[in-house]
Amino acid sequence: MNKDVHNQLTSALTTIISETNGISLSDTIDLLLSSKMKTENLDAYGLVVEFRDLLNRFQINQVTISSLLKHPMSAALFEFFKNFPLKYNEEHIHLTGAITAEFIFPRLKKLLEGPDKDIYEQKIKEVYGDKALPIRSVEDVDRLIRLQENEGFSRYLKILYLPKLIFINREVHKEAAYSMAEELYYKFNVGRVRLKFSLSRSTASSSEQIPGIDNVTSEDVVLGLYDGFRAFQEKHPNFDFILSPSFRKEANHFDSEKFKTRQEHFMEQINELVDMIDKYPFLERHLRDVDTVGDERELYRKEHFNEMQAGFRKLQYRGFKIRSHHGETWHTLKKGIQAVDNAMNIWHIDTLEHGISLGINPNKYFHRIYQDILAKNQQGQPISEKDPLYRELTELDWGFNRHVLEKILKGTKITAEEDILFVKAKFHTAREVEHYQHDVLNRMIQKGVTLVSLPSSNNKLTGKFEDYKDHPFSWWEKKGVQLGVGTDNHVTLNTNFIYEMLILLYTDAVNLKITKLLMVTTGEIRRPYISHLLWKMRKQLGKTAHR
Ligand SMILES: [Zn+2]
Repeated sequence: MNKDVHNQLTSALTTIISETNGISLSDTIDLLLSSKMKTENLDAYGLVVEFRDLLNRFQINQVTISSLLKHPMSAALFEFFKNFPLKYNEEHIHLTGAITAEFIFPRLKKLLEGPDKDIYEQKIKEVYGDKALPIRSVEDVDRLIRLQENEGFSRYLKILYLPKLIFINREVHKEAAYSMAEELYYKFNVGRVRLKFSLSRSTASSSEQIPGIDNVTSEDVVLGLYDGFRAFQEKHPNFDFILSPSFRKEANHFDSEKFKTRQEHFMEQINELVDMIDKYPFLERHLRDVDTVGDERELYRKEHFNEMQAGFRKLQYRGFKIRSHHGETWHTLKKGIQAVDNAMNIWHIDTLEHGISLGINPNKYFHRIYQDILAKNQQGQPISEKDPLYRELTELDWGFNRHVLEKILKGTKITAEEDILFVKAKFHTAREVEHYQHDVLNRMIQKGVTLVSLPSSNNKLTGKFEDYKDHPFSWWEKKGVQLGVGTDNHVTLNTNFIYEMLILLYTDAVNLKITKLLMVTTGEIRRPYISHLLWKMRKQLGKTAHR
């Protein structure tokens, strides 16, 4: 786009946002359209009209969010957020999904040309398929580490493998942390990073095993990352970071050669963490919480949580806070809520990461399932165990009407009367689940548990939403949930922190106020101070224009 028009748009947006104290995007656009822009700047005016039209069509499902994000108005809004004088808190980012192909390639190249060449090639083939090799350029790496449009959660956990290969010593952890800090700080105005990473990558699952990984100690990982971030902080005192070691939830994710059970391996890592704090007191300010990650679908019952309870308790006595990836993906929505419930009751988590099981509207969710299944049934299609909706369907509240379920499973067309019974089963289930969901959410608000929102990740990975518009951020905000925002993995997911802010703004253009979004993402709670900063941005415009 024409650079002049871009600058005019950015400057008009900055002016109107500062003068109106950051109201909703929709109101901001309306005021832009009735401003003097209409007579003084036709090109910019035309773009705002076009954008408003897209935004309206986005609300009624005629265009996707990407057409909004590609529009020049998004570039102007991006610039506005990038110029905001306070830096953002990136509350949730994983080491392996946040380093660029430029960083990975030269280091991977060395490994692929080294003595263990064959092992690496074989492992890469195992995870990415035969076509992944040869890897000859930054572009080749880039292609492998980014999630494609139609790929989901299981694939995502797999493709994080390539970046993992290069983390073979303390030095590379240091370099990665520095390079990440630099990228986020300058490109996306991020000044505080909460980094999630594994202390131990040992695993019993073959497609995740990494050659040479046993030589890297937990201390190498933590101190390396600390060194890198600290070096950046010395040059940029307004940068800060939290190192958040994360434990995988899956049963096979532990070093089965050294430990009999996962619990033993887990406790060993807990003890290492506590020892590290004692040995290196400077870590205490940055090593203050832990997280659990991975596929939670098999981890929702009380027994599943008991295994890690003692370890977390030990950390809590040492001042650690417990965060957890929960309510991100599930076999049934009810279990997705149950998982959060247990994480709160048994682990006493302070922060919930994702938590979308607490944001989905059960009435809509179950009705969509009903519609999909009914359509299949009317075409005579059976529903097998492999069907993604199988578990929800069989766990509906069928009461005395299980004969209807049997027919649906077999693919025998149900009658109009049976259809009503199907509707009733899903209706009662939705009501039950809604009740449970509100109960858990209210307890969460009462306890002051923070919820970190990751819109792109939720949309692209777990497919629990059909659309970004269904993301509950704004609903949570209105209910008074304490919120944070993160990208999860900006490289893997093709996003960045400011994009996530735009997505949140577009999904609720009418109600979400720009000032509110700035407060959530910067952590600044003094509203008048935000107004002052917006005004400062406006003044700055004057200066640049005069020069
Ligand atoms: Zn995550």
